[in-house]
Order: sequence, then structure tokens, then C-alpha cells
Amino acid sequence: MEKVAIITGAGRGIGREIALRLAKDGFHCAINDLNEKDLEESKALIEACGVKCNTYKADVSSFSDVEGMIKKIHEDFGRIDVLVNNAGITRDNLLLRMKEDEWDKVISINLKSVFNCTKATSKIMLKQKSGRIISIASVVGVMGNAGQCNYAASKAGIIGFTKSIAKELGSRGITANAIAPGFIKTAMTEQLSDEAKNKLYSQIPLGYLGTPEHIASCVSFLAGPDSSYITGQVIHVDGGMVM
Ligand code: NAP
Repeated sequence: MEKVAIITGAGRGIGREIALRLAKDGFHCAINDLNEKDLEESKALIEACGVKCNTYKADVSSFSDVEGMIKKIHEDFGRIDVLVNNAGITRDNLLLRMKEDEWDKVISINLKSVFNCTKATSKIMLKQKSGRIISIASVVGVMGNAGQCNYAASKAGIIGFTKSIAKELGSRGITANAIAPGFIKTAMTEQLSDEAKNKLYSQIPLGYLGTPEHIASCVSFLAGPDSSYITGQVIHVDGGMVM
């Protein structure tokens, strides 16, 4: 059977790499992002793997936009097998300096988006009696990080959400798992100074930053047949940072 995966925030970074890996695994891809140009670049790379790929520009923090997007994806592809909740942002600040807008934006794009996409998709997966929901959290959601209370709260929220829906949806053949990446080389971490990066390396037993491919390999496993008995878990892909 031909399988279909949705990947949010797939215009660049980890999301693009996840979509590419799932395409190599044979999944048709519905890719979402805010940036149309980035989406078109991802689409060309994915189609080169020989699968179908459609782009969906939508703000995942908007409940109504997501409802419309998932409805359209279902009409276009006829089924949805895998949802990867990947879109995310940072707006770092110390608690006392953090503006209400920095808190609201991060919670809304990182956490409410996961509710929006999972709620709309799970209705379709429930009818199919199968599905895989994979959400990209962070080690910061497990261990906390000074200057990132908004981001840490959003990622810890994803972990609680994942465990709860794993319990709700398990009897219908749907699994839900989260991945907690450590520090991964993308635009998000490029902004760090050399000093900050060197400090980071000392916290990583494997001694180097991860790559988007490391995260994509884990998604591939969670989306594939070998992980069918795994649900409600948080898999750390972090070079041993948190153990
Ligand atoms: P990235 O390079 O900044 O990519 C994030 C993507 O999400 C961008 O394409 C962005 O689009 C899109 N996006 C942002 N807001 C959106 C919205 N409202 N609706 C739809 N798409 C939206 O980040 P990344 O490093 O690949 O991170 C991907 C995920 O991994 C995030 O959830 C992040 O928190 C998580 N993570 C990353 C690291 C790391 O070290 N990089 C570590 C742990 C967890 P625009 O280009 O339009 O902004």
C-alpha cells in the first residue's frame, strides 16, 4: 500500500531532512511551511526520490488554517499514515526580560500547533485504524535551560501531550512518540558563538553536534514497521547529553 506522511516546518532544517528521508523510504509527502520558496526547493528534492509531493503553506499555530490544510491533504492523497510535528521557533530571553509576546508565540507555534495538527489528523487515522504521530520535542523540555523558559515549557508540553494521546489512541492502532534532539546543526543553532559551541561540546559525551540526518533516521524508524510496539516514548537523539 502507498503510504502518506505529513511533515510540518519542512521548508528547511530538520523538517526538510525528515521529509527527504521519508521520501527515500517510499512515503508520499505532504509538506508544510510558512515560506513558499523554501517549500518549492524541498518539493524538488523530494520528487527526485520518485514519490509524490504537495506543498501546503499554512501557519500551524492557527486552528482553522490547520483544519483546512489537513482536509485538503486528505482530499489530495486519500489517506494519512504519518504525522511529523516538526515546526518550531525560539524567542530566547531570561524570565524577567521575557515579553508576553515571546512567551505566547513560542507556546502557540511549538505546542498549540501539535494539538492542532494531531487533532485534525487523528480523526482520519482513527477511521483508518492506524497511524504514527511523531513530534519533535527537545532535550531542553526535559532538563530546562536558562534563557529558554518559553521553549522548555513548549517542549515539555509536547512530551506530556504525546504520552496522553498514546494512551487515548493506542487501542485504535495509532502510536504517538516524541523525539528529543540535543544540539543539531541548523539555522537555529548557527547563531551560537564559538564560545557557546565549545561549552556545548563539553556537555556532549560523543563530542560533536548532531545533524538533521540523525533526527531523520529516528523518524524513519518510528514511522516504519520495526517500531510498531513502541508508543508514548521520548527518544533522545543527543549524543548522550541527557541520560
Ligand atoms: P529551523 O531551521 O528554524 O526550521 C523550522 C521550520 O519551521 C522553518 O522552515 C520555519 O519556517 C517553520 N515554521 C516556523 N513557524 C511556523 C509556523 N507557524 N507554521 C509552519 N511552519 C513554521 O529549525 P530546526 O532546527 O530545523 O528545528 C526543527 C524542530 O526541531 C523544531 O521544533 C525545533 O524546536 C526542534 N529542535 C531543534 C534543535 C536544533 O538544535 N536545531 C534541537 C532540538 C529541537 P520559516 O522558514 O518560514 O521560519
